Amino acid sequence: MSSTNISADLFDRAKALMPGGVNSPVRAFGSVGGTPRFMVSAKGAYLTDADGRDYVDLVCSWGPALLGHAHPDVLAAVHAAVDRGLSFGASTPDEAELASLVQQRVPAVERLRMVSTGTEATMTAVRLARGFTGRNLIIKFAGCYHGHLDSLLAAAGSGLATLALPGSAGVTAATAAETLVLPYNDPGAVEEAFARHGHSIAAVITEAAPANMGVVTPGEGFNAGLSRITAEHGALLILDEVLTGFRTGPAGYWGLTSGSADGLSAAAWTPDLFTFGKVIGGGLPTAALGGRADVMDYLAPLGPVYQAGTLSGNPVAMAAGVATLTAATADIYASVDARSLELSAALSQALATAGVDHSIQRAGSLFSVAFGTSERGVHNYEDAQGQESFRYAPFFHAMLDAGVYLPPSVFEAWFLSAAHDDAAMNRIIDALPGAARAAAA
Ligand code: PLP
Repeated sequence: MSSTNISADLFDRAKALMPGGVNSPVRAFGSVGGTPRFMVSAKGAYLTDADGRDYVDLVCSWGPALLGHAHPDVLAAVHAAVDRGLSFGASTPDEAELASLVQQRVPAVERLRMVSTGTEATMTAVRLARGFTGRNLIIKFAGCYHGHLDSLLAAAGSGLATLALPGSAGVTAATAAETLVLPYNDPGAVEEAFARHGHSIAAVITEAAPANMGVVTPGEGFNAGLSRITAEHGALLILDEVLTGFRTGPAGYWGLTSGSADGLSAAAWTPDLFTFGKVIGGGLPTAALGGRADVMDYLAPLGPVYQAGTLSGNPVAMAAGVATLTAATADIYASVDARSLELSAALSQALATAGVDHSIQRAGSLFSVAFGTSERGVHNYEDAQGQESFRYAPFFHAMLDAGVYLPPSVFEAWFLSAAHDDAAMNRIIDALPGAARAAAA
């Protein structure tokens, strides 16, 4: 194993200055142990750490780097935007350009509002749904992550259709009590919740395909069923595509499963609101919510639901988003899809050879591994939590030692990019048998 001295020193320094030494918890390597690598540069499929070591990156900034890091078109657009100034506090031409690129892919986005983070997008969508419907309750699914807004940091209560408990210290019981947390992939639980509380439910929010409890494939017709039942009860469906949007296909996971993969053909079902993040900003802090014009027009300045942001629609971030969506052609998606199939097959093969029971969970090009789950697979949070997660830390460290940077938690998706070429893939694939043996031990 090569030296991690500089990362270790940087981590010690950071711990004295920031809680846990990080600005987002999973970066602390809490669930895998060891020294978090401090990264100093990223190019294509590779990250380089402060000790001068490079890694093939399978985190891709948790999603945004669909094209690979530092794509020349995106860098050129960002450099040109920087030269024009960093932030104007006024409307700019690229905001409408980015909104129009989104609308071409997802025509149901009749109006779009830019914000800076996925959390802001879901927080605003929830407030908007409450404002529009005049109702209070929100349904979310256990194991789905929508950012760190209080009302969605809720944990399941004791029974189906009971109101939720706070999912974090600092979230009040009163806030959590306005959220219903249901098991994922369980249409019966949704029916029951609507039967009991239908007149008070403002919205159902769901990840288009969950990827924050590891990846979980939505059952056939699950999302379409949510669209139907919300419409029947006068509630809204918020489809959270912060992670999947513009990554799993030109029109996100909705496109893959609604019959409108290119955004052009008629869709079998459509949510009322979408939330986007990650790829839409190409690596800079931009996210958005969008959907039905009559709902979106409830936002200020037209409507009574307040929302604002000093840096919303920031010109540099808009330039990165426009360049990223423009460069993300059908060929890019085809190449990421093909690499994903190649890698997940090699992973499964290596684990099988080492005798490690597992299942590969997939949603488009996103996938994750769940240990000890081959019999049942993973359909919800309970299944995900029940896996042999202790096998991941030795697997992760064997890959890291071989120069492959995986998500530092088994409950995260593996992200590929169009820059993962044969050399990068070969490094990953060569490292898998050793890591699989470490997982078996
Ligand atoms: N929604 C989903 C599905 C996410 O995966 C995330 C973050 O990973 C968020 C919302 C929150 O986005 P952000 O971290 O930009 O606040």
